[in-house]
Parts: sequence; structure tokens; C-alpha cells
Amino acid sequence: MLLRELRRAGTDEIGGVLATERVADRVFRIVDLSVQRKGGTFAAFSRDASLHKRFIRRFHDLTGHQYERFNYLGEWHSHPSFPALPSPTDVLTMHSLLEAPEQMANFLVLLIVKRSSAGKLEASAHAFAHGLAPIRVPLVMPERNDALTEVAASARLSLRKRLAMRSNSDRSRLSRR
Ligand SMILES: [Zn+2]
Repeated sequence: MLLRELRRAGTDEIGGVLATERVADRVFRIVDLSVQRKGGTFAAFSRDASLHKRFIRRFHDLTGHQYERFNYLGEWHSHPSFPALPSPTDVLTMHSLLEAPEQMANFLVLLIVKRSSAGKLEASAHAFAHGLAPIRVPLVMPERNDALTEVAASARLSLRKRLAMRSNSDRSRLSRR
């Protein structure tokens, strides 16, 4: 599904939010993601906040408002013309999302995806927390018979992260300065 969207978008960036299930301590599985097809150019993506808010509200309704288990984890967008890594603008955007008054999370994840010239999915995931540089987190894309050619929104793209403890200790170290 994601590859199909990336192919359809061509050289325009597309993106949205990540709806995830916490499957273990600091391990999240992406169960769904919103796809905003408009608002992106070859070098930028500007998110439509109301669209993604509605999507997450519906996700909470569908999953019975079990916020500890099913919740928003962060953002994703594509980099058709650049490597699948966060740009300086992406880092600023993630920090402004973290600092938004309604933001409850103490960290957010940014997934960047790209369709390679061979038609495969390339991706990176980084976690962002207050006062820290982005931390790259492992991303697991389980292979099926046809490898990575199809990653459905409901498929088990899973994220593993060692952030919570690390960011706590980093923060206490920072505050002692
Ligand atoms: Zn970007």
C-alpha cells in the first residue's frame, strides 16, 4: 500500500501520521497510517493537522480508546528526491510538534520512506525528544514471500526503540549542568 502510494505520488512528497500498537516495552508496530496526497512538492511536505487529527480520533474509536496500547507515535513522509533521512527542516518540524501545547508524548518518531529506483521500500526511523539530537531507531520490515515489494498499512512494519530510559538519563544529566 505504501509503495503504491509512493509510486502514485511520483516526485511529490507525501506523508501523514503513524497509528501504532505498543506490542512490548518500547516496541511499536505500525498498524495504520494516514496518507495526505496533497500539500507536498519535490522537496517539502506541509502537513494538514486537521486531517491527521481526524484520522487519529477514528483510530482511537476503532481500537476502543486503549491509549496505552494504541496511539499516535509520530509522523511519516516520503523523500522521493533525497535520501530517506531527516532533513534539518524535518528536525525543526519534529521539535515544534513536540513543543505544541496539546502534545502529550515525551518523544515522537519520524519515519522517512522512499521508493528506490529498483522499486523497493527504503526507510529510516528516528526518535525525537526535548533537548536531544535525533536518535535513529531500528525499523523491522518482516519479509514475506515477495520480500519488501508490498508493505500494507496493516502489515507489521515495526519499530523498536530504546528511547525512554535513555532520554530520561540524558535529561537528568542535562538538567544538572
Ligand atoms: Zn523531509
